Formats: sequence, structure tokens, C-alpha cells
Amino acid sequence: MSSRSIELTDNIYTYLLENSLRENLHCTNLRAETASLEMARMQISPEQGQFMALLVEIIGAKKAIEVGVFTGYSSLCVALAMPDDAHIVACDINLEWTSIAQKYWKRAGVSHKIDLRLAPALDTLQQLIDSGASGSFDIAFVDADKGNYVQYYELCLTLLRSGGILMVDNVLWGGDVANSDITDTDTEAIRELNRKIHQDPRISLSMLPLGDGLTVVRKR
Ligand code: CA
Repeated sequence: MSSRSIELTDNIYTYLLENSLRENLHCTNLRAETASLEMARMQISPEQGQFMALLVEIIGAKKAIEVGVFTGYSSLCVALAMPDDAHIVACDINLEWTSIAQKYWKRAGVSHKIDLRLAPALDTLQQLIDSGASGSFDIAFVDADKGNYVQYYELCLTLLRSGGILMVDNVLWGGDVANSDITDTDTEAIRELNRKIHQDPRISLSMLPLGDGLTVVRKR
């Protein structure tokens, strides 16, 4: 046996799903509808959604930020795991994708927990800080344009309370971050944030080979 993480073959991945996934029917349906879209690969995996929901339960999160909604799968998973008076600020700029999200949030009965802000997330996050919301959020998920990842990280960290959790998606970027021949701006932006988080004394972290790589950070 090896001391490193297991290589996830198709067979093992199927076993993992069959023996751990408890997906809400609305989440399954949303995943099916999203799979037909051209940008379907932007959707997180179902076991990642379940992991995020588990973190929400573990810390008893009631206030969340999502940067990058897409068709709303992660916010749906997280909202279902939260109490009725929870508040999720969901940031995106795409009307078409978020209209699919809103349809499923409504069907699942969680729309009242989700506050969709159709505007550049940097503006929404700064407005929250300006309105005095710093240090008040329990959990944040960053999964949007990679060029702004470092800024999203900083703003979300400011908005989180001590002990709050920040998750960053696509930190392994299909493996490209580990290939020094690849130097496009998105890959470099993710590398920059990965280095920054690794050295950041304000947080504790774990970089998980889950989905396309998920870094989980706890604000100290
Ligand atoms: Ca992603």
C-alpha cells in the first residue's frame, strides 16, 4: 500500500459514488440538465457537493458566500444542508446559467436562503465589506474566473469569521499547474493563489485531490 492518495480509476470512482453518494433528487435533476450545456464541465462533481454540504453541517454554517454560481449545483447542495434562516450570497454575472439555478432552487424549496447578486463578484464582495459584513460569514466557496482568484481569496477571507471555512475550486486545474510547460494566464493565476495560500500564516489548509482539486482553508 502506498502512503499517497489513491489513483481514482473509473472502477474505484464508481465504487465511491455507489457507496457514499446521497444525492437529493433536485440535485440529480439539475446535474442532468446542466450536462446538456456546452459548459457542462464547469459543474462540480456530486461527491464534491456532498463534501461541501458536510462541511456546512460540521461548522453549523448559516451565512455563506459563493463566488461563481454557474447553474447552481453547489449552492443547492449547500442550501439544502443549511437551516431555514440561512443566508447565501451567490455571485455571478451570467443570466442564462443562473436562471437554471433559480429554477432548481425554487423546486427544492431553498430560494429564500439564496440571495443572487448578478454583478461582478469583486464589486459585490467589496460592497459587503463596505456595509460592515467583515468577519461575519461562516463559509465561502470560490469557483469563478481564475484571473481574479487572488482578489476573491482576499475579499472572502476578510468577510469570513475566525474559524470560518473557505473553499477554492480547480486548484489542480486538470493537472496543468504541475506542468511547467503550461504558462497561460489562468494556470499562472491558480499557481499564484496556491503559493499564496500555502504560505499564508492567517489560515490552516488542506489541498484535496477531490474533483479538479479543492483547497479547504480555515481562517485562524
Ligand atoms: Ca470549478
